[in-house]
Amino acid sequence: MSHDIIRLQDVTVAYGRRLAVEGVTTQIHCGSLTAILGPNGAGKSTLLRAILGWMPLTRGEIRIGDSHPQHALPRLAYLPQRLDIDWDFPITVRGVVEQGRYPALGNCRRFAAADHALVERSLAEMKLTELQDRQIRTLSGGQQQRVFLARALAQGADIFLLDEPFAGLDAPATAELAAVLRSWEKQHRTVVAVIHDFALARRTFSHALLLSTRLLAAGPISEVLAPEQLKTTYPAALDD
Ligand code: ADP
Ligand code: MG
Repeated sequence: MSHDIIRLQDVTVAYGRRLAVEGVTTQIHCGSLTAILGPNGAGKSTLLRAILGWMPLTRGEIRIGDSHPQHALPRLAYLPQRLDIDWDFPITVRGVVEQGRYPALGNCRRFAAADHALVERSLAEMKLTELQDRQIRTLSGGQQQRVFLARALAQGADIFLLDEPFAGLDAPATAELAAVLRSWEKQHRTVVAVIHDFALARRTFSHALLLSTRLLAAGPISEVLAPEQLKTTYPAALDD
């Protein structure tokens, strides 16, 4: 089996006639933490949605292992941008995490012992067991992020596509989430996350994709984000 778990070949995505992602060819290694960095409107969220198989490609191809994304959906967990979540919807922590089992259960949503066990394990891994009956809107930002990561774990996925998971988190919650992602790397889970903070990306991630509609650079994060490299690929990042 290939060491590359996600392979993108000339991936091009458009909204109407406007190209949001153009000609992206790269590979994402199994068990790596890959940061997607780039300016607003660079196509970062669009690229994640394309990997999920949600966006028709104008050109190119995406493979997850040996499969088309639509045949790999159980392996792919998605964390939307916080803005895209309805925080007023009344649902408990446990209710959100249970949603992770829905795709596997089909319409009846009848939980077997194994499903409950996976929900319990996911709650425990994200340190949410004590909070499981709370409404999610009453939690802190860091706790809310952990709830959605627990839902992703409950799905049984091994590839995690996270859109700006650190947005709005304070310093302790940021450190905690970074530690969670590093522990996932040790468990050979693959994480692809949109990140804005270059310093945080350097500290936490092993690989980076630098995107501005086109791919500006890709590879080990120390190389992609080396100041000498950024001078030519993305000088605005050096002003931060
Ligand atoms: P990023 O996540 O890097 O900020 P996006 O992937 O959200 O960028 O957007 C890339 C480009 O596609 C932007 O120009 C944005 O305005 C456009 N875009 C994103 N979503 C839509 C949409 N649903 N309809 C039309 N244009 C969109
Ligand atoms: Mg975005």
